Formats: sequence, C-alpha cells, structure tokens
Amino acid sequence: MSSVPGVGLSIRCEELVYIYCTGDVDVVAVRGVDLDVDAGERIALLGPSGSGKSTLLGMLGGLIPPSAGRAWIGDDEIGGLTERQLLRMRADRVGFVLQGAARNLLPYGTATDNVRFAQRSISRARRSDLLQPLALLDALGLADIADQPMATLAGGEQQRVALAVAVANGPGLLLADEPTSQLDEPARDAVLDLLEAVNERFGTTIVVVTHDEEVGRRLGRTVSMRFGQVGHEGRKDGQFTVVGKDGSVHLPDEILAEWPPGTRVVVELDADHVRLTRRHP
Ligand code: ADP
Ligand code: MG
Repeated sequence: MSSVPGVGLSIRCEELVYIYCTGDVDVVAVRGVDLDVDAGERIALLGPSGSGKSTLLGMLGGLIPPSAGRAWIGDDEIGGLTERQLLRMRADRVGFVLQGAARNLLPYGTATDNVRFAQRSISRARRSDLLQPLALLDALGLADIADQPMATLAGGEQQRVALAVAVANGPGLLLADEPTSQLDEPARDAVLDLLEAVNERFGTTIVVVTHDEEVGRRLGRTVSMRFGQVGHEGRKDGQFTVVGKDGSVHLPDEILAEWPPGTRVVVELDADHVRLTRRHP
C-alpha cells in the first residue's frame, strides 16, 4: 500500500474517571486513568472483565462524557467539544468498533453498502486515498460475502465487516473493543495484518481491547487495567508495573493469587531493589 503521511492522533488522559449512576448505586468504572499514547502508536488494552476497558474506550471515542479528569484526542479536549463536534470527530477522524459487532452496522445493507456508507462524509479530495470497499473486504477474507446483507452473515463475518467500516475512512484513531473475539486464528491474523497496513498507510493510532495475548504481542505495547486503573504496561523491552498517583502498585496476578487484598507486607529499599516480605499475622 502506498503511504499517506501521518494523520495519526495522540491520546492523553489525566486522572480520567467515569461513574455509572444507576438508581441507588454508583459504579466507579474508571478511577483515575493517566495514559499517553503517541500519534501512530499501536496498543492493546488488557484486563479482566469489568475492569473498565470498554468504559475508557467509550470516553476516548466521545460516546460518554468523563465524570472527572480530562482527555485529549490530538489537540482537542473531548470534554470541551459540542455534541456536533463529537459527531463530526467520529464520522471523519475516529473509527470505533463497539463490543458486539452487529451494533455498528446497517442490518439491511450488504457488507459493501456498509463500507460505502462509512465513506460518504469524506471529501472528494481525500476519497482517492481511501481503500476501496472490495479491497478492504478482500483483505479480511470477506470478498465472497461482499454483496450479502449483513443480517445473513455469521457473527465472525459481521465482526470483520464492523472493522472494515471502522477503518474505511483511514481514521486518525481506531478504537476497537474486542474486534477478534469471535474469530478463528487465520481470521484474527488477517485482522492484525489489516491493522498494521492501516497503521502504516494512514499513520492511524490503534487501541484494541483484547483478551488475546497474541493480539497484544503483535501490537507491541500492552496496557493492563484492573479495577478501573492502569496497573501494568508491557513493551518489547519488558513488563512494568506502573506506580499510581496515590503510590499504589498493582501486584502481578500470580502474586495477587498468593497475597490477597489485605495481606500485610514489609517494603524495604535495598540499593536499586525493593523487597516485599509477607508479614504473617
Ligand atoms: P470491561 O470492558 O473491562 O469488561 P466495563 O467498562 O464494561 O469493563 O465495565 C466496568 C464496570 O462498570 C463494571 O463493574 C461494570 O459492571 C460497570 N458497568 C458497565 N456498564 C455499565 C452500565 N451501563 N451501568 C452500570 N454499570 C456499568
Ligand atoms: Mg468490555
């Protein structure tokens, strides 16, 4: 694919918080996330179910407004944008794959219609840069079903069409919530190949929520959430625990399994090592 210079959008989150207010109980789903992603970077967002991944993605895509804290997509602070500006941002610059593929799609249209529909708002000048719908569907192994209505497709096919729709405009940022959850390995690999190609061609910044370690490995940088906070980061050069603003550190899962919350530990600094010793009651 020929290259169009970087339109990638950076992400910056400062103490981002989201609280679901549902009748009597408030659920703090995201509790103070600080995160920086460079323009054109590719990251995987990992973490157990309920750790706040989808909620964080929803804020970054402007679908739900932060309860507290601030987030910037490129130069725009999302809390400062009007509803109309947010719609424009999602139509032109941010591709979003919601969890549960079919929620993104026009059910009566064909796969090709859905991709074309996503490209309708792009100016004529930029249109020549875009991927052709059939080429895009072909890259995902969907050439054979390009003219079938969405409602007749299998879940894994719908999921890939949703991804094709989300990247159809060569977005500056792609936010994809578990885009490979219904795919077998070859289909998943086709998705990863396409994400790399889109990243290279458009400079697209890519954030993928996933449970699949291979997806994390291919994307290069992993950010892990637990209880609404970022606890770990992984890059090609190793795995790191991130010290929170309140001084907390997330223990790796295998240690947490041995040392449940409430365990008392002695923390000692010894040259450039920190030693944690369990104190038995
Ligand atoms: P993940 O995507 O990591 O599984 P979510 O962001 O979906 O996590 O959820 C984070 C927390 O917020 C969970 O405790 C979940 O039960 C809660 N939650 C998610 N959506 C809603 C909602 N619409 N109303 C109330 N609570 C919600
Ligand atoms: Mg989720």
